[in-house]
Amino acid sequence: MKIILLGPPGAGKGTQAKRLAQELSFPHISTGDILRQNVSSGTDLSKEAKNYMDQGALVPDELVTQMVARRLNEPDIRRGFILDGYPRNLSQAESLDRILKNKNTGIDLVVYLDTSESVIIQRLSGRLVCKSCGVNFHIKNMPPKVDMVCDNCGGRLYQRTDDKEETIKTRLEVYKKEVSGLIKYYEVKGKLERLNADEEADIVLNKIIHLATEKAAK
Ligand code: AMP
Repeated sequence: MKIILLGPPGAGKGTQAKRLAQELSFPHISTGDILRQNVSSGTDLSKEAKNYMDQGALVPDELVTQMVARRLNEPDIRRGFILDGYPRNLSQAESLDRILKNKNTGIDLVVYLDTSESVIIQRLSGRLVCKSCGVNFHIKNMPPKVDMVCDNCGGRLYQRTDDKEETIKTRLEVYKKEVSGLIKYYEVKGKLERLNADEEADIVLNKIIHLATEKAAK
């Protein structure tokens, strides 16, 4: 099963994708995580990407699509995968279709995590991320057991530089500009399912699993 999680920053795509990947034993592919790994290792790719990321703007399509194409060439994606943060616009959606078509496959399910603006701001402004394993926490909603230490691996937690109020605003504007085109694209193909992602993470996860199970049975 090849699944895309679509939704605004703060919809919980990363959290849901990681848990879903464990439940379904599929790899989780997050373009944001791959870009951040590149930035922390100082690769050539990161030099170009970092400025865009710090401003909350989209990294150029070509760069991100190349990165995704490389990842989708690895053997572990054959049974399925969960894409989080890609595609971000129509051109990326079309590129993704081309990449998968060349492998005689395609996307099975696109879950749109519909989230209200107040919930987005509240989630992003309190988000903490583990530097080692990438698991997300929240200062109030999901605090770690030990201050700034990851429950999962003991790594150090940090606040993403793009989770500042000003950058959050830009990211939301970028998202709003692109999302309606993407929604239509997958709706026309009969792949899109909408969920209310303001609900608790466990409830949303169960609903996504239900959608995936239904789709697999068809
Ligand atoms: P995310 O972790 O998905 O919120 O992504 C963090 C940042 O990485 C975004 O604000 C963009 O600057 C960049 N990014 C992630 N995915 C993409 C993508 N598919 N296209 C362009 N830029 C991306």
